[in-house]
Amino acid sequence: MNKIILFLGFLLSSQLCLSQKITIKVHSITGYGKHTEFAQKAFKAFELVLNSEEFKEGIKAMKAEKIKGYTPEQLYGIIMKAHEKNIPKDSIATDGIVDLWVRTLEINGRDSRWKDNCEKPSIFGNQTIGIDGAGDGFMAICPTALEHWASTNDFAALAGHYAHEYMHVLGFDHYRLLSSQSWREKTFVYKVGYLVKDLVRKMNSTNL
Ligand SMILES: [Zn+2]
Repeated sequence: MNKIILFLGFLLSSQLCLSQKITIKVHSITGYGKHTEFAQKAFKAFELVLNSEEFKEGIKAMKAEKIKGYTPEQLYGIIMKAHEKNIPKDSIATDGIVDLWVRTLEINGRDSRWKDNCEKPSIFGNQTIGIDGAGDGFMAICPTALEHWASTNDFAALAGHYAHEYMHVLGFDHYRLLSSQSWREKTFVYKVGYLVKDLVRKMNSTNL
């Protein structure tokens, strides 16, 4: 009897290993306050999506700008390899694990230069949601965006934000001289963010 249980346990755990290709490790969450738990939901949803067939298919079918000459298969491989280009000083990141450090922008403190961007859309029609830490490895979100999504329990949107910023951490951008918002939304970084958001919404409408 014990042997059977052990064997079943082994089968179950090996199945889990096979289906789980990538994990998310959140090293630090700073400034989120009472929204920390809400953020945990978004990380969990982001991880589920990364491991899904739908995400793989979505990346492989994606036509996007700013893909640095990679094929869709290569882009999928880059995401799953999870080799971060920017991580906080004195930190350690592991390939195959999405290593994240997140914080809120201190718009009334050291990040005051982002205050206007966070609080109103620019004349180009784009709204700043957050920044990838400008290379310091911390993903920083506008408190206004976090508040808004938490109040509507929109963890799909937050997961999409993490996906967008994580593409920056992997070395992609959406920069072009005199670019419009509609052009930026065609870039790989934006499209991955939207794909993750849409898949989280889909999964939660079918599975829960
Ligand atoms: Zn961006």
